[in-house]
Amino acid sequence: MSTYDHSEWSAETAAIRAFHQRTHEQEHVDPLYMTSSFVYGSAAEAMRKFSGEEEGNVYARFHNPTVQLFEKRLAAMEGGEQCVATSSGMSAILSLALGLLKSGDEILASSALFGSTVGLFRNYLEKFGVGIRFISATEVVNPEAWEKAITPQTRLLFAETPSNPLATLIDIRAVADVAHRHGALLVIDNCFCTPVLQQPLALGADIVVHSATKYIDGQGRAIGGAVVGRREHMQDIFNVVRTCGPCLSPFNAWLFTKGLETLSLRMKAHCEQAAALAEWLEAHPAVAKVYYCGLPSHPQHELAKRQLRAFGAVVGFEVHGGRDAAWSVIDSTQMLSITGNLGDVRTTITHPATTTHGKLTLEQRVAAGIEEGLIRVSVGLEGLDDIKRDLARGLDALAAC
Ligand SMILES: *Cc1c(COP(=O)(O)O)cnc(C)c1O
Repeated sequence: MSTYDHSEWSAETAAIRAFHQRTHEQEHVDPLYMTSSFVYGSAAEAMRKFSGEEEGNVYARFHNPTVQLFEKRLAAMEGGEQCVATSSGMSAILSLALGLLKSGDEILASSALFGSTVGLFRNYLEKFGVGIRFISATEVVNPEAWEKAITPQTRLLFAETPSNPLATLIDIRAVADVAHRHGALLVIDNCFCTPVLQQPLALGADIVVHSATKYIDGQGRAIGGAVVGRREHMQDIFNVVRTCGPCLSPFNAWLFTKGLETLSLRMKAHCEQAAALAEWLEAHPAVAKVYYCGLPSHPQHELAKRQLRAFGAVVGFEVHGGRDAAWSVIDSTQMLSITGNLGDVRTTITHPATTTHGKLTLEQRVAAGIEEGLIRVSVGLEGLDDIKRDLARGLDALAAC
């Protein structure tokens, strides 16, 4: 077995080589330990491992070397002390809540969150006595709005930045300061950015959550999640996974380690394509507005430049003509995948008002800024000209009307 000191390695190198432990087989690539349990050399060793007196593998609900390798690499890339991997992005958020909250505590959240996250908070945490308050989509940009809404019961502040699909940013450092002044923790769902584009912990956030299903896998194969942060918090979350069981499959963990190896390269390519597509869309006569924080027209472009290494690969845009026009553009595509998923090498296209945000009331949708003419594209890695041509078919027809 060999291990290397990786403390000076770049994220690119860490993603490929950190914590590799070669076995006696001398394999080159990280092995996949597809095993649910482990054996001991003696009864006494079993006793020591079970009691925790001696470190080592016991049972794959909480110890699996393939899962642990993924956790260590992602922690290194996020700049966190420890990572706990989970069976999905949603179970990462659930485990975080179970580990760190108790009845009577409150979450203060941006209202511009992934729909199931809102559902988890509202439908499940609330019934166990955890209070949820939301900051409106227009106010999340303003750290004073967070400060005003915080109460002595607030334990967690929770946000996605840039948001989906309107690319609204929160100032991570300023909102982290608000949290810390009131004894609360800031949690950032970093799924849209990955550590390649944004490192919330370095900006003052306390905890990062991920849906590894998106860019970390990057090729649409597997569901998984992770939580990264300081050891004191991660130990509580690890104990939830250990006892309650939302653990990551070693096979999926292995796929995700393969995903991490190319993450930097893929994110760079995704972002370059998205930036070029956003510019092209902004110049198209059928397009009323583009939501992409890499455009100088984005109201928080300066903050985006400070907070992000590149601007992400999800582009929202509104066409003139409402739902009919938006649907006609979507239905005119031949190559793009009509699906709500994102973070894939395949470009996907969706109509948020009737899919991802379809459960909102009209009033909530208007408040969130989700117009009927809005289309969301998760820009993949096909040739940019092919993506443009597929969108141009519908857009040119609209412009000609
Ligand atoms: C997809 C997603 C999740 C949930 O992740 P799953 O892996 O689908 O459970 C959470 N947050 C964001 C921002 C997402 O896009």
